[in-house]
Amino acid sequence: MKKACYIGGEWVGTAEYAPLYSPYSGQEIAQIPQADHHTVQKAIAAAEGAATVMRRLPAYQRASLLERISILMNERLEEAATIIAIEAAKPIKTARGEVIRTIQTYKFAAEEAKRLHGETVPLDAAIGGEGRIAYTVREPLGVIGAITPFHFPMNLVAHKVGPALAAGNTVVLKPASQTPLSAFFLAELAEQAGVPAGALNVVTGSGAIVGDQLVRDPRVRALTFTGSPDVGIAIRNRAGLKRVTLELGSNSAVIVDRDVQLGEIIPRCIFGAFAYSGQVCISVQRIYVVKELYEEFVRRFVAETMTLRGGDSISEEADYSAMINPEETKRVLRWIEEARQLGARVECGGQMAERMLQPTVLTGVSANAQVSCQEVFGPVVIINPIDSVYEGIKLVNNSRYGLQAGVYTNNLSLALHAADELQVGGVLINDIPTFRVDHMPYGGVKESGIGREGVKYAMEEMTELKLVIVKR
Ligand code: NAP
Repeated sequence: MKKACYIGGEWVGTAEYAPLYSPYSGQEIAQIPQADHHTVQKAIAAAEGAATVMRRLPAYQRASLLERISILMNERLEEAATIIAIEAAKPIKTARGEVIRTIQTYKFAAEEAKRLHGETVPLDAAIGGEGRIAYTVREPLGVIGAITPFHFPMNLVAHKVGPALAAGNTVVLKPASQTPLSAFFLAELAEQAGVPAGALNVVTGSGAIVGDQLVRDPRVRALTFTGSPDVGIAIRNRAGLKRVTLELGSNSAVIVDRDVQLGEIIPRCIFGAFAYSGQVCISVQRIYVVKELYEEFVRRFVAETMTLRGGDSISEEADYSAMINPEETKRVLRWIEEARQLGARVECGGQMAERMLQPTVLTGVSANAQVSCQEVFGPVVIINPIDSVYEGIKLVNNSRYGLQAGVYTNNLSLALHAADELQVGGVLINDIPTFRVDHMPYGGVKESGIGREGVKYAMEEMTELKLVIVKR
């Protein structure tokens, strides 16, 4: 079926189309417009044209539009989950969870639209500041360029579109080439919800053409990007003075101390490592377990991992399915092989079953192996022994990345020490790093990115602070 871009409130075709294939079945599922320079120009112009309308819209009306998107998505929850399952090969159970979160993200955005405010500034605290009243306001920036990845095609789009509209901006959205259908679905809901024409525009096509034009066009005032570090860093280098928020990758880790209950921790770590085949930016990739518990941990972890079931992403039975494409699958297989060459033991998985890479557990992995020091973004976890939590903290910090980290311990002072020392954007005590709810501040340090998402925090990134001073 031929799809269309959504520009200025209209569905617009393009000269070129590309087939979209299901990662699981390999079958064609749609024909996707490939926007050229002219189409992207049109979308940016539409967004710029609508900027004044959005800027002047009262907060209660912006809130009501977002609330309606949230309600409409709730009514079509099953359809939304099926779109994700088919285009991203996300198991339907997991896809449903993503839609439930997306509904909440738009709801949070509706609520935050009403809470966007500045503060008064006591100017008379400075000599010479007397006799003045000062206050700040948060003004929308105008056109926001949103570039999104494949693995949370509804909710990571919501984390950009929700706050942008809540703050009175307009958006040109360029979704990942593998997951455009979720973005078209959102545009349909926005149209139905009565979002003003031009406030949300969806343009599909290659990152190098559509994405790059958003990065370079001076009318786009801010870029919000979630994706791989290489693309993110290149965007930042080309963005000039534009505001840039980057949510990039990680090789997230969890530390397991002595005296903890493995019965609860192991299923949680398995979920963190293999949900959506590890294609999650805060997926558990490295587990460091104190040596007293190490053997038991590995034995039980492997036994439980082997009960996970692979299958068609639309099947209720499937715990995991195919990775996003064959090239990525081959890359992960190469990395597993490299780890093996460097002395790692494959405890389970490491093989293909039909189109699916089995959940893979590696032990005795060298810190130099790519499965340890790079972001795997696949169904692979490493489990290595440590002498103490202190050693674990050093290993976690020995990384280019720093998104979130988890520490399981019953020792309060060790937990607080870890919270102080871990070089990450978020520390989880007694949980895995694979935890996110949609209003919490979320983002990384080092090569995991700059800026924060979580609706309220993203709105700060998407607004300009203006100061007003009234001399009495
Ligand atoms: P990706 O390859 O970097 O693509 C992300 C987006 O950037 C896509 O829309 C892509 O378009 C576009 N793009 C590619 N080249 C571009 C260019 N030269 N200029 C502008 N845009 C360009 O990432 P992905 O494979 O979809 O997603 C996986 C990555 O996202 C992982 O590294 C993961 O850790 C990271 N991630 C981070 C977070 C976080 O919040 N920190 C959350 C989720 C994911 P095409 O699809 O057309 O190439």
